[in-house]
Amino acid sequence: MTTPLEAIIGLEVHVQLRTRSKLFCACRNAYGALPNSLTCPVCLGLPGALPVLNAEAVRMALALGLAVGAEIRPRSAFYRKQYFYPDLPKGYQITQGPVAVVEGGGLEIPGDPLVRGAEGPVRIRLERAHLEEDAGKSSHDWSTTASFVDLNRAGVPLVEIVGAPDLRSPQEASDWLKALHRLVVFLGICDGNLEEGSFRCDANVSLRPVGATAFGTRVEVKNLNSFRFVKQALAFEIVRQGDLLARGESVAQETRGWDAAAGETRAQRTKEAAMDYRYFPEPDLPPLEVDPAEVAAVRATLPELPEARIQRYRSAYGLAEDEARALLQSPAFADYFDTVARASGEGRQAANWMLGEVSRVLNERGVGIENLGLAPEALAELIHLVAQGTINLGTARETVLPALLAGEGSAAEIVARKGLAQVADAGAIAEQVRTVVSAHPDVVAQIHAGRANLKGFLVGQVLKAGGGRLDPRRVNEALDEVLAKS
Ligand code: ADP
Ligand code: ZN
Ligand code: MG
Repeated sequence: MTTPLEAIIGLEVHVQLRTRSKLFCACRNAYGALPNSLTCPVCLGLPGALPVLNAEAVRMALALGLAVGAEIRPRSAFYRKQYFYPDLPKGYQITQGPVAVVEGGGLEIPGDPLVRGAEGPVRIRLERAHLEEDAGKSSHDWSTTASFVDLNRAGVPLVEIVGAPDLRSPQEASDWLKALHRLVVFLGICDGNLEEGSFRCDANVSLRPVGATAFGTRVEVKNLNSFRFVKQALAFEIVRQGDLLARGESVAQETRGWDAAAGETRAQRTKEAAMDYRYFPEPDLPPLEVDPAEVAAVRATLPELPEARIQRYRSAYGLAEDEARALLQSPAFADYFDTVARASGEGRQAANWMLGEVSRVLNERGVGIENLGLAPEALAELIHLVAQGTINLGTARETVLPALLAGEGSAAEIVARKGLAQVADAGAIAEQVRTVVSAHPDVVAQIHAGRANLKGFLVGQVLKAGGGRLDPRRVNEALDEVLAKS
C-alpha cells in the first residue's frame, strides 16, 4: 500500500493595472494601439531617461492590499532585475525587491470538501503583492522567419500577487483565482481581460504524503490564461507527479508550459538553467514612502467588496450563493441588478429576470448589459406590474419585454395599448370557468372521482380562453368554487 499524497498549490498572478499612464512615464496605458505608438525615451530605455513613479498605480496597489486585509509597508523600494530579451529594451525590469508595498492578507474560498472533508470556508493567504513594470510583446512570423517587437506594453504597471501555498486542489485554485479576479475587477484596478493578458497566472504545485509537514519539490506551470486551463494543468501535474513518485522516481524542480491543444504540461527549463537576475536597488528611484493619510484616503474610497455584496444579496433577497455570484459577473451587471431590485422592491424576482430573460437576450445579441438598451428602472416597472398582478409572468416575458426592448414605450404604456392587463373582475373569471366546466363534464366527473390532478387541465383551458389575461391563482380559486357546487 502506498501512502496517500496531497497536493500543495500556490498561485502567482500578474494583474495589469488600469491606470491612465504607464508606471514610470507619461505614455498612455492602452491595449490594441498601433504597435510602438505608445512609447517614449523612458519606456524605450534610451540612455539618460529617468523614471518617475505613477501615484495612481500606487493607490491601486494600496486598494488591493486594504481589500485583502494586508499590511501596507510604509517604506519599500524598487530593484533592477536583469535579463536579456528583445521585448525588454532597458535590459532590466524595475520591480519591488525583498520588501513589497503589500505584505500578507488573504481571501476566503469555499474549501474543497473532497480534500478537506466538510470544513467550510478557508482563508487562502497572500504572501505579498508588489509593484513592477510589464515587458513589451514579441511575436514571430514563422513563414517569413521574422520577429516583431511591440513596446506599447513595456512599462505598463503590474501588481504581482504571490499566493501562499495554502491551496489543496485544482478546484480550490480555480475558486481562489476567480475570487481574486472578481476583487480586482470590482475594485476597478484591472479590466480583468484574460485573453488580452490583463490577468495572468502561474501555478506552483507539489505533492507530499498526507500528514507530512515539509513540502515536496515544486513545479511551476507558466502563463495560464484561463480559469479552466489552471484547473486542467494542475490536475495533469498532480497525476504526472503522482506517477513519478509511485514509480520511486523524483520530481524535478522545473518550469513547465501548458499545451492546451495536447492537454498536457511540457518541460521548459530546469532549476539548473534558472537565471541569475543580479538584483540591485534601482538608483534612479527614491524609496516608495506611503504615509498613513494616503492609506486612509484610499480606504475611504473602497467600494463594497464582492464577497460582502454576495452576502448582502443572499441575506436581503434570499438568493443562493451561486445565484449571487452569477449576478457579480461584472460591475455593470451587478449595478444594474441593484437598481432593478431597489426600484421594483422585488429582489428575488429581479434576480430571476437578470439571470433568466436578461441574460438570454444578452447572449443572443452577444453584448454586455451596457448595450442592452433598456434602463434598469424600465425593467423594474415591468417586474412591479407582475408583482401587483396587473399582468402575469408569461405575458411579461413573451409580450411586454420584447416590446420594451423594441422601444415601444414603458411597460405600463405597452400593457395599456395592447390590452394585456389581467381580468381582475371575479365575475368575469367565474363566467369563463363555468363555460369550461360545462364543456367538459367527463373531466369534472373524473375529478369528483378523485383525480384532482385533472384540475390543471381545466385551468389551462380557462387560461387559454382568457388569452393570457387571467391570473392563474384567481382561476384556481374560482375553479375550486365552481367544482364544489357542481
Ligand atoms: P520564488 O522566489 O522562486 O518565486 P517563492 O517562494 O516566492 O519562490 O514561491 C513562489 C510561489 O510558489 C508562491 O505562490 C508559493 O505559494 C508557491 N510555492 C512555494 N513552495 C511551494 C511548494 N512546495 N509547492 C507548491 N507551491 C509552492
Ligand atoms: Zn513611455
Ligand atoms: Mg516568486
